[in-house]
Amino acid sequence: MDLKVEIDAGSGFCGGVIRAIGCAEKFLDAVPGRHLFSLGAIVHNEEELSRLGRKGLVTIDYDDLTDMQAAAGESLLIRAHGEPPQTYAKAAALGFNVIDCTCPVVLRLQDSIRNAYARLKPLGGKVVIFGKVGHAEVLGLVGQTGGDAVVVEDLAMLEEALADGRVPTDAPVEVFSQTTKSPDEYAGICALLKERLPQGSLTVHDTVCSQVATRHGRLSSFAQSHDVILFVSGKTSSNGRVLCDLCKSLNIRTYHIGSEADIKREWFGDEDRVGVCGATSTPKWLLEKVADAVRAL
Ligand code: SF4
Repeated sequence: MDLKVEIDAGSGFCGGVIRAIGCAEKFLDAVPGRHLFSLGAIVHNEEELSRLGRKGLVTIDYDDLTDMQAAAGESLLIRAHGEPPQTYAKAAALGFNVIDCTCPVVLRLQDSIRNAYARLKPLGGKVVIFGKVGHAEVLGLVGQTGGDAVVVEDLAMLEEALADGRVPTDAPVEVFSQTTKSPDEYAGICALLKERLPQGSLTVHDTVCSQVATRHGRLSSFAQSHDVILFVSGKTSSNGRVLCDLCKSLNIRTYHIGSEADIKREWFGDEDRVGVCGATSTPKWLLEKVADAVRAL
């Protein structure tokens, strides 16, 4: 086979993930042998988690945190997705030293939502968040409203919330997006709200992360300019699913893989141009390994 392989130059970790991983490595490298708890996976990528695990990063979940009785002397990393206020209160009560790696973009979004909620509550208005129900970033955002915001994943959920009155049509509404959602889908959500709400009662906040929005444009042309696309990301990455679906919609020969071990020879024809790309949680070194494995075919 004479395959041509190209790695998308815009793929790889986003700034927020690079910053969180850098913080964790700095902490662990400073005193060899010590460990650091991370509340939730620091990045949705199994390969990268194993690498950091070997350095001493221990991933725990919310149940582990709830079950803990004390953690004086231990350190807890808050990942780029951010957390609701209750998590900080719980960590402080346990005695954790908190290393807050919430992405600055997410912190700004949390602030905006908190301010919007303070404006809307006395008027009977609502904060609407376009995002994935139960996603860590969304839980952190909803936490800024004491759980009062309405989360919608798609147009059908928004229709339902409008029909049952959870999203009011007689009071102001402010809408925000999870940072990693598709800009086009968010535009659809905003358009429906605009159509249903009285003029002047809707405020749209442009909160899709610019790093994600740029990737949508880049990946669209990348997917169309290659015969085969290998999209590399962990199966639990929300951003990975969104970007892989985008590639699939433009190139039916798109394959979602976790690592080079998932590659199948029958996907390729002689002289295919193969594009390798990934999500904001996919490390560059993994893209290189995938590209090497394709070259080896
Ligand atoms: S996608 Fe954007 S907002 Fe989200 S962690 Fe990365 S840089 Fe921050």
